[in-house]
Amino acid sequence: MLPIVRISRAALKNIYNTRQVRNLNLLEYQSKDLLQKCGVSIQEFRVLDHKGDSETLKDFECPEYVVKAQILAGGRGKGTFDNGFKGGVHITTKKNEAVDLTDKMIGHRLITKQTPKEGIAVKKVMVARSVNIIRETYLCILMDREHNGPVIIASPAGGVDIEAVAEETPEKILTLPISLVNGLQRTDAVKVAKFLEFNGELVDKCANEIEKLWELFQKVDAVQIEINPLAETDSREVISVDAKLNFDDNAQFRQSNIFALENTEESDPKEVEAAKNNLNYVAMDGNIGCLVNGAGLAMATMDIIKLNGGSPANFLDVGGSVKEEQVLKAFQILTSDPNVKGILVNVFGGIVNCATIAKGVVAASKTLELKVPLVVRLEGTNVDEARTILKNSGLAIQAASDLDDAARKAVAALK
Ligand code: GDP
Ligand code: MG
Repeated sequence: MLPIVRISRAALKNIYNTRQVRNLNLLEYQSKDLLQKCGVSIQEFRVLDHKGDSETLKDFECPEYVVKAQILAGGRGKGTFDNGFKGGVHITTKKNEAVDLTDKMIGHRLITKQTPKEGIAVKKVMVARSVNIIRETYLCILMDREHNGPVIIASPAGGVDIEAVAEETPEKILTLPISLVNGLQRTDAVKVAKFLEFNGELVDKCANEIEKLWELFQKVDAVQIEINPLAETDSREVISVDAKLNFDDNAQFRQSNIFALENTEESDPKEVEAAKNNLNYVAMDGNIGCLVNGAGLAMATMDIIKLNGGSPANFLDVGGSVKEEQVLKAFQILTSDPNVKGILVNVFGGIVNCATIAKGVVAASKTLELKVPLVVRLEGTNVDEARTILKNSGLAIQAASDLDDAARKAVAALK
């Protein structure tokens, strides 16, 4: 049986589908800044970004504080830190304890149901004025494919895992489409507020909050605004206690201020750099760096490396319209990985001109003073000129005649 390389479907799906629809995600405090600007009721807060930061809380007097780790994932309250400390959301009445709690979070990885299993490193912590919550409800405005437009999803059973509510008690979920032509009607906002079991003057208060969230949804080109919980407090207020916003990537040109907030610290810097240069790259744990055009050929190349006893360091599809500079970028990304002990270039020239790749490979090898063995297999458009360029470069590039030969040579070069 063929030893097939395991690359997660999620990783591939991520680069091929969500590259166009990445749906920028923000940290809670960044989302809440936007909520506040639109008049949505939130708790006053400060953001701490280093240990022992009592300075930031100097003039922030509250009877009770809520301390919240800022990561791009939910389920923080029930999460655990890599130092064993439990909970990414804590409540305390003392300011100095708020600082102590922050110290236990910053620099540690928080593991929740929504993070990778190794967790996400916490760099910032929000300290907010705590509210006394009587009831937690769920509210989400979402761009929904099924309805060809925005819908409100609401549930009086908020705070907890909404998927479980939908599964176990679907009658507790209301889905209400919003007309893009007429916008959100007051009667609908009121209907949602009542479904959320607000009563008395809180029906109007909640409807007002929903209307402001809808305004924000349109203004910032959101594809999702999720408030969980939308809380009822003992002082009869309706407060957005937690917020998660996603934005339409196609609107980046008119939401440049929001996109400038993008937090890429949690991603592999090689993947961020690749995405900037329109290269489809996923890091893996082998030692042969691969540069290939086309997703299918990239997968086949990884498999054939494995078949020959080697192990690919990455998936890299440079695409059909690759330019010389992108070849250089790709080489820079490959060689920045200390695990890469050899490079295999496998390009089938259809739209791509093999001579362009050959020039790019030669230029990159010289510019980067490439130290690791390099095997190149080119086939297709202009391949003869390409081979001449490689041969005349004076570099120790090993030419390969076909895919199998290329993989065998790459594996052998490492021994
Ligand atoms: P998540 O766990 O990542 O969804 O973070 P949340 O911000 O939703 O906080 C988790 C839970 O902590 C909420 O569902 C609330 O029950 C509780 N919580 C958050 N903020 C406050 C607060 O200001 N006061 C009180 N009493 N509870 C809070
Ligand atoms: Mg929440």
